[in-house]
Amino acid sequence: MYRYLLLGLAAIVLFISCNSNDKEQIFTKEELAIINDTLSPLMKVFVITDKSDSLLLRRTTTELSNAELQSKAYETLCKRMVKTVTDSTVDGVGIAGPQVGISRRVVAVQRYDKEGAPFEVYPNIYIKEYSKETVPGREGCLSVPKSTLSEQEMKCGVVRSEWVIISYTDARELKTVQDTVKGYTARIFQHETDHLEGILYTDRIQPTTQP
Ligand SMILES: [Zn+2]
Repeated sequence: MYRYLLLGLAAIVLFISCNSNDKEQIFTKEELAIINDTLSPLMKVFVITDKSDSLLLRRTTTELSNAELQSKAYETLCKRMVKTVTDSTVDGVGIAGPQVGISRRVVAVQRYDKEGAPFEVYPNIYIKEYSKETVPGREGCLSVPKSTLSEQEMKCGVVRSEWVIISYTDARELKTVQDTVKGYTARIFQHETDHLEGILYTDRIQPTTQP
């Protein structure tokens, strides 16, 4: 009788642990196909001139689970996003998940405010606070070909906060971290986190007196 009780308990424990594994969301098949498509060293950059790319660029992204952050696929995604944005044919200062077809809350940003201006990847990033002080400036986007802009739009800039407080998940410690970012790097963070809400910088442009 005692033995059956133990067996029963073991079955319940096994059931619970299997169930909790099911709840851990791992990348979809489609996402894994994009992440692991190493036939090309660079990831395809989604652009607004393509109808289906455009639909994905306008979607709101979802967060990455802890299991995803600790997966090999996430590591590959980070490396490939940075490789893509730093390639001489792209030469960008930041890139967001949707720009490579991954509708997730992740951005890679060049930290001009750090020595050596390294590229760093920020999962589950949010801007917690925007400074009231703003500054106009010109922006460009890997997903918005210059040929799609009117002459007037080319002369426009985007008004952004001078500094922001960001919050993101430290992928190793799986803890939420906050950081204050200023200057041009704060502009990059604002541009990239906009992508995670389906917002493009062209939605925010306005005439500016900036040269
Ligand atoms: Zn962009």
